[in-house]
Amino acid sequence: MTDASSGSDAAGAGRVVCSRAACAREAAWAVAWRNPRIHPAERVKVWAACDEHRGYLRDYLASRGFPVVVSALDAVPERVPEAPAMPRGIS
Ligand SMILES: [Zn+2]
Repeated sequence: MTDASSGSDAAGAGRVVCSRAACAREAAWAVAWRNPRIHPAERVKVWAACDEHRGYLRDYLASRGFPVVVSALDAVPERVPEAPAMPRGIS
């Protein structure tokens, strides 16, 4: 009757949805990043990503020169190291 211990959701974690605009899929990945111009090294921003948008979000950030690390949603790194020098002009 009263929904004391909501039946369906077991853990308290709840559902995490992909950060990509207009995507409502459940996220399985964490895209951790920071903007070195405004964020100190200990600062980590995290976007959630579904399988489909993991690469999209990573590339979006990487193309701006931001350090970015993709990990499992429950294994977000404490820091995002400076991006290694990216090879350019290789195709
Ligand atoms: Zn998505």
